[in-house]
Amino acid sequence: MIYLQELLSNPVETISLTAVIDTALCVGAGGSSGSLADKPIVRTADNKLLIPASQLKGRLRHECEKISRGLGWAICQGPNPQMMCPQRADFPEDEARRFQRDEDYRVPGDHRYHCLICQMFGNPALPSRVIFDDLICQEEPENLPPEVLRPGVTINRRRHTAEEKKLYFLETSPANVQLKFTGDILIQPNSPASTKALILAGLHHINALGGSKSVGLGWLRWEIQGLSVDEKDWQTLLPGEIK
Ligand SMILES: [Zn+2]
Repeated sequence: MIYLQELLSNPVETISLTAVIDTALCVGAGGSSGSLADKPIVRTADNKLLIPASQLKGRLRHECEKISRGLGWAICQGPNPQMMCPQRADFPEDEARRFQRDEDYRVPGDHRYHCLICQMFGNPALPSRVIFDDLICQEEPENLPPEVLRPGVTINRRRHTAEEKKLYFLETSPANVQLKFTGDILIQPNSPASTKALILAGLHHINALGGSKSVGLGWLRWEIQGLSVDEKDWQTLLPGEIK
């Protein structure tokens, strides 16, 4: 349901976000194994490098979860849908009751309880109130220095040994050219009061993207425009039961 009054008094806020990549970045190359998490960069149809919105959203959700738990919020256990709000299957009784303690866990028009993180990033029963763009590299592909291929081997996570015949190649973006990837984060008018402060805090915890930072890929810093967080906003980070 759309609440017209809310829309009128609280317009959508747009954060313009730029990731400045300080080192070479791992690009998901055809034929390499691994999940999306191992492929933080892909290409657009016109061959521009791109950090998928899902990468950014997933990482930011994870960081915001850790921060808000640390501040004393009751937060559900993703990513299994049954363990997330509003179901929260198998939650210990005393832990489950914390979700029903105050209005911070309610959203207009829904009788169920959703944690702060689900209210921002969504769950199977609630749409995300924070919308992420892909971050697209502004540099034209033809202006980039020739790319390098980094050979690697697939490590067996259980045995911690290199698997035979699993040599793969990570395509990386050029090192030390300060590539800029830009996109918007849209904060919907009905998102929780603490959204801006939590996003800013979460971004500060992301110093790298992708699964290969241990081999020196993917370190970055952020340039953030359109996100002003004042004293009042920081106060909203404290849950009602502590305030
Ligand atoms: Zn939740």
